[in-house]
Amino acid sequence: MRKTALTIALAGWIGCTGAAPPAADEVGSLLAGYQINPVSADAVGARCDAVETLSKKLLTSLEGRTGAATIAGDYQRFDSLYNLLSDTAGQMYLVSQTNVAASVRDAGQKCSERMSAVLTDLSLSRAVYDRLAAIPKADVDESTRFALDKQLLDYRLAGVDRDAATRAQIAQLNKTITEVGLEFDRNISEDKTAVTLGPEALTGMPQDFLDAHKPGADGKIHLTTAYPDVFPVLGFAAKPETRKTIYTAFMNRAHPVNDAVLTRLITERHNLARLLGFPNYATLITKSKMIGSPERAQVFLDEVNGAAMEAARADTARLLARYQRINPAATEVRAWDVSYLNNLVRKEDYDVDAALVRQYFTLDRTREGIFRLVHDLFGSDVRAWTTPVWAPGVTAWELYDGQKLIGRFYLDLSPREGKFNHAAQFGIQAGVEGQRTPISALVCNFPATGPMEHGDVTTFLHEFGHLLHSLYSGHQRFATQGMEQLQGDFIEAPSQLLQEWVWDYDTLKAFAINPAGESIPATLVAKMNAARHFGEAGGWQQQLGFSAVSLGYYSRGPGFDLASSYRDLFNRYSLIKMGPDMHMYAAFGHLNGYSAIYYTYAWSKGIALDLFTRFKAAGIRDPATAVAYRHAVLEPGGSKPAHQLIHEFLGRDANTKAFRDELALSVQRAAAR
Ligand SMILES: [Zn+2]
Repeated sequence: MRKTALTIALAGWIGCTGAAPPAADEVGSLLAGYQINPVSADAVGARCDAVETLSKKLLTSLEGRTGAATIAGDYQRFDSLYNLLSDTAGQMYLVSQTNVAASVRDAGQKCSERMSAVLTDLSLSRAVYDRLAAIPKADVDESTRFALDKQLLDYRLAGVDRDAATRAQIAQLNKTITEVGLEFDRNISEDKTAVTLGPEALTGMPQDFLDAHKPGADGKIHLTTAYPDVFPVLGFAAKPETRKTIYTAFMNRAHPVNDAVLTRLITERHNLARLLGFPNYATLITKSKMIGSPERAQVFLDEVNGAAMEAARADTARLLARYQRINPAATEVRAWDVSYLNNLVRKEDYDVDAALVRQYFTLDRTREGIFRLVHDLFGSDVRAWTTPVWAPGVTAWELYDGQKLIGRFYLDLSPREGKFNHAAQFGIQAGVEGQRTPISALVCNFPATGPMEHGDVTTFLHEFGHLLHSLYSGHQRFATQGMEQLQGDFIEAPSQLLQEWVWDYDTLKAFAINPAGESIPATLVAKMNAARHFGEAGGWQQQLGFSAVSLGYYSRGPGFDLASSYRDLFNRYSLIKMGPDMHMYAAFGHLNGYSAIYYTYAWSKGIALDLFTRFKAAGIRDPATAVAYRHAVLEPGGSKPAHQLIHEFLGRDANTKAFRDELALSVQRAAAR
């Protein structure tokens, strides 16, 4: 997952950053003064005032330019102004999701809203658009021309060519959408849903979990709905009621508080799309994406569903058969049984014991293992960065190629009250070669100490894939050429590609080490690989279900019932049905940041596995292939169309064959057993 202020501010309009010759010092020095951990709400407000004042001044000056329009004169100023606003919006959004003080989080949210409002003014400035459109392209290099053309398209999609009254309406709608979206996010991250259970409810849980969750003074076990509590319970608790209790609590986070907020978000986005001449928001947001339209997205979901169906049916039948050995009366597998039954089947049929596997993974070792992998594949070194952070436990790092600083990043990896409760990469500073180093952060929720799930390692690598992409792509002439500008439905490809390495023994053996100091055995990794695809097709059908919800909510007029619509859309794809007690949409954060395009995960998975075919052919740890991938796909960021990045690495167009083949693997392996 990626979090940017831009997706919040101006869903369809994605912009730029950089430095302009005369204004560079002013912008550069103001940007350099940002504080990662503002001391108070007043400090946030003062910072926000300074950025707003300068940005309004720069906007007025850009609008008033006369004479011949040029890249060096106009585009660079635009880039610089955009950079100032988008970096500040991103930094403040991070503050709103991570700061330890609620008052500072509030102030961060308010500032994020103010930055978005100025970004909207910039995106609707006819004068700026006219200046950019007047730049002659004859002598402009290809990637700069691509950046310019993309900005002009985004301007048109934002409604710059409408009359002043309509543009004022658009600006007001964008402002509301930003505010409501931030409220939606805050309600999720500040949700305090908790579960109280009798000690007997934890039958089946690993000893380390029991040790970390002793009964309180009242004799009860108190669990949160943070991932380190929820995932192990779903995977190991033997009593179905326990799993159901925590699953139900988890699927009702931010409900009902977010119901009205989400309805408002969907309504205002629909109104915006209609005002811009589109039938619905899904059509507007997909217009500039690889997929092009909601209709094509729908076709894609159905294609993947078809490819997954046989394996999903076979896997679900195996889960049900296993469940019937526990409860002969069972007629279906419920959502809260899947993870537990999956673990049983893997243990009994594939000899993979999840409780044993997790003993090999701890957060610190996994982090070191990922750093080593980055070195082995891409030749870059991670070194500690001494700098202030925003909470205890947050760490800071620098990425180097030899002596060249590539980027900096923060890792905020474990739960904390009031903190963002999913896993995502947050942009902090867009890079411009020779001027500013890219800075990024991962905000995740892994157990701080003790064992972690293999799935957590996958998530960590996934987010690290986004992080590397943001740092490697931040070395171009303009920030408008960075990762932010890339077509949004490609963005989950580099992250999902990197997940492949969690199945590689040579990678795992270096950091998967149990408390006795033993590396994970090759035989265990081989068994994990044999079991790997069991349940995968069903997992993807769930992803298709979420995609259908995201697409469906934004493809129709507002005023529908969120809960029943959610069930209809999700259950069309998932064989494991969502019941009426679940209101998962209320905490489905992507419905703000990704709006209609959650299909991005499945779409990008197809691309990731296609890209991976070259690694498979050369050897997964072949540095030459990895470096070629870094150059062809990661470093260009958003300076080229996504299909071209794929073509340059693979020497051909992308296709979904590798994904379809993988979805069929479970059936083939089951048959071969
Ligand atoms: Zn992601």
